[in-house]
Amino acid sequence: MSATLLAGPPAAAALLEDARARASRLARVPQLVLVRVGDDPASVSYVAGKQKKARETGLQSHVHVLPEQTTQAELLALLTALNADPEVNGILVQLPLPGHIDEKAVLDAVRPDKDVDGFHPVNVGRLWSGQVGSGQPGLAPCTPQGIMALLDFYGLTVAGKRAVIVGRSQLVGRPLAGLLLNADATVTLAHSRTADLAAVTREADFLFVAVGRTHLITPEMVKPGAVIIDVGINRLEREGQKAKLVGDVHPDVAQVASALTPVPGGVGPMTIAQLLANTVRAAEVQAAGQA
Ligand code: NAD
Repeated sequence: MSATLLAGPPAAAALLEDARARASRLARVPQLVLVRVGDDPASVSYVAGKQKKARETGLQSHVHVLPEQTTQAELLALLTALNADPEVNGILVQLPLPGHIDEKAVLDAVRPDKDVDGFHPVNVGRLWSGQVGSGQPGLAPCTPQGIMALLDFYGLTVAGKRAVIVGRSQLVGRPLAGLLLNADATVTLAHSRTADLAAVTREADFLFVAVGRTHLITPEMVKPGAVIIDVGINRLEREGQKAKLVGDVHPDVAQVASALTPVPGGVGPMTIAQLLANTVRAAEVQAAGQA
């Protein structure tokens, strides 16, 4: 068997097309505001990429760049102003923040109906009480929601299936568990303290891996015919060659699985597309006065 590749770009394009069509039905073009503190090179590149994609999708996007030594009070004051600005529909504070700023205090200060990253406790609660998705006020984190959109694009249904997630981060594993549960999967969340990980992963009809360890998942850990979603992004250093980006899943898993996301070009493109879909969702909810 050789697994079907679940490529991200066509699924991301479909998600963006839907976001663009929904945005065009609103009275005003939705606006995403990105906030970056300091000049961490990865953050500079992520924020620029998000703004570029927002504009390509026909959304308004503005970036606030604050110096590294910005105080927490100054950052919170900016968020208060953005929360109150009716022209701003979505707010994203790029992480990580400099060490002197309490990330949780900052994320908690974003108005829940503008929280396009879905990290605010109100949105976490909405996710776990099933209030996300079409017609619902909740906003869920972009990577796990993008994964659900990818499955949907490829016609893969999790209802009634055994879903195993490896990794329990706030960013990926935990919210993905909530979304899969809302979609009627039977969900297991495995992590660094899970005993006999292979026995757990072999149960999975759908295996989601978000750990950040090169080739952690090997063929003998996979049930024949399983669908594998590889969220991991790792740099594989190679002697005399450029480093290569690889996932958490060993390429030989393709001999056992029925379908597999590539790295790069799988989950990655879905994350940014989902951010823009969330911005349009936020604008719809605000326009309807639902929040
Ligand atoms: P994290 O470090 O916050 O969490 C990693 C999780 O893996 C933890 O819950 C930990 O318990 C678990 N873990 C660690 N070692 C383990 C082991 N040996 N066995 C089982 N579980 C183990 O990471 P994160 O932010 O969730 O990111 C995970 C990976 O996904 C990273 O490679 C990251 O770069 C990637 N990522 C990709 C995207 C994307 O858009 N493609 C988005 C977010 C994260």
